[in-house]
This record gives sequence, structure tokens and C-alpha cells, in this order.
Amino acid sequence: MNRKGILVVISGFSGVGKGTLVRRLMERYKEQYALSVSATTREPREGEQDGREYFFRKKEEFEKLIANDELLEYASYCGNYYGTPKAYVEDQMAQGRDVILEIELQGALKIKEKRPDTFLVYVMPPDARTLVDRLTNRGTETPEKVHERLTRALEEADEVAKYEFVVINDDLDRSAEELHQLIEVQHNKIDRNLEFISQVQRELKAYLKGEQ
Ligand code: 5GP
Repeated sequence: MNRKGILVVISGFSGVGKGTLVRRLMERYKEQYALSVSATTREPREGEQDGREYFFRKKEEFEKLIANDELLEYASYCGNYYGTPKAYVEDQMAQGRDVILEIELQGALKIKEKRPDTFLVYVMPPDARTLVDRLTNRGTETPEKVHERLTRALEEADEVAKYEFVVINDDLDRSAEELHQLIEVQHNKIDRNLEFISQVQRELKAYLKGEQ
């Protein structure tokens, strides 16, 4: 792979199914993408494993990661810290992989400020009812937590315009393919190809010189 990796941020309301969507994308295009595993202070849900869904850390451990500048960004969400370990992201991008961060809005905007070439995508449900049903039926949250997360969704909606693209999660395969295509298009942006264009220009110059 000789193209450079892109940092892709996927956000969306809690319960919208962004985790499932990202997993589908990764399954389909294993070679192209790397999924960043975040650190968090929230308790693991049933079935979640340390190092797979998250690095589950105590508050003091998390604060050490912040102090040592090991996080690309971090944010507080519904009472817990969440943050992106820096080393993995940089390593994977250097290897030419597009790195997917599944993070919430505050973190996404912080990253965009630091690295303006980050690609921000927001996943939306087809309608509000679908979101409420998914979050309730998931059964991982108490009714109070569901309420808290829906309230947060309402707040986030005000800021979604700061993202660049939206993907509606209605049909998993269709949505995953659409997401993939959007990322592919980012690779074709002129800004990301200036080096390549200069290289062809240099080659052409060398050719014309040799012709004389
Ligand atoms: P959950 O508790 O449902 O796994 O995640 C809650 C929210 O935190 C989700 O919106 C998720 O995308 C976000 N999140 C997960 N990891 C990170 C991270 O490293 N940084 C930030 N800013 N948000 C994250």
C-alpha cells in the first residue's frame, strides 16, 4: 500500500448502531482499515473484554494516560472518561491503513482542530423511534441511563452540522458500503495527492530532458 492512511472519525447518537456498522466495514475491508480501541473509565458491559471493546481503566490510571500525553484526545461522556491512545493510531496510519475512531462529538471536534485533514462522519438513525427502540431493546442500560443518553443525543444534534458527511444506518450492508465509498473518495482529494502529482511532474520533466 503506498497511499497514506486517513483518520476517520465516526460518531452518532448512542444506540444508533455505529459499532455494528464499523464492525461490518472492518469485516469487508480487513486490509484497509484499523479500528482504534479507546480507553474508558466506564464499567465493562456483559460480554465486553478488556483490550477488545475498550481498555477498561480506573480513574487514576486514566488520569495518568492524560498526564503522560498518551491520548490523542479524551472527553467526559455521561459521567465517564473516554480517550484515544495515540501510539496505535500513528503506527497504523504510517502503515497506510485508514484508522477508524468511534468517538463522541467533543473528542471528534478536538481531533479536527488538531488535525484538519481528519474525516468526520456522523451516523444517523432513519428516525427517532428507531433510536429509542434500539437503545431500550439493547438492554444494557437502566431506564435512567437510556434517558440520559437520549437527552445527550438531543444536545449533540445541535452540533452535527460540524461534521462533513452523514450516513443513515437503515440497512447494515448498504450503510457500510456507503461509508466505505465516502472514505475512498477522501483519498482522491487533490490535497491528499499533491505529492503524487509532483512526482509524475518530475518524471515527465526527466523524460522530456532525455528526449532532447
Ligand atoms: P459507550 O459507553 O456506549 O461504549 O460509549 C459512549 C460514547 O463514548 C460513544 O458515543 C462513543 O463513541 C464514545 N467514545 C468511545 N471511545 C471514545 C474515545 O476514545 N474518545 C471519545 N471522545 N469518545 C469515545
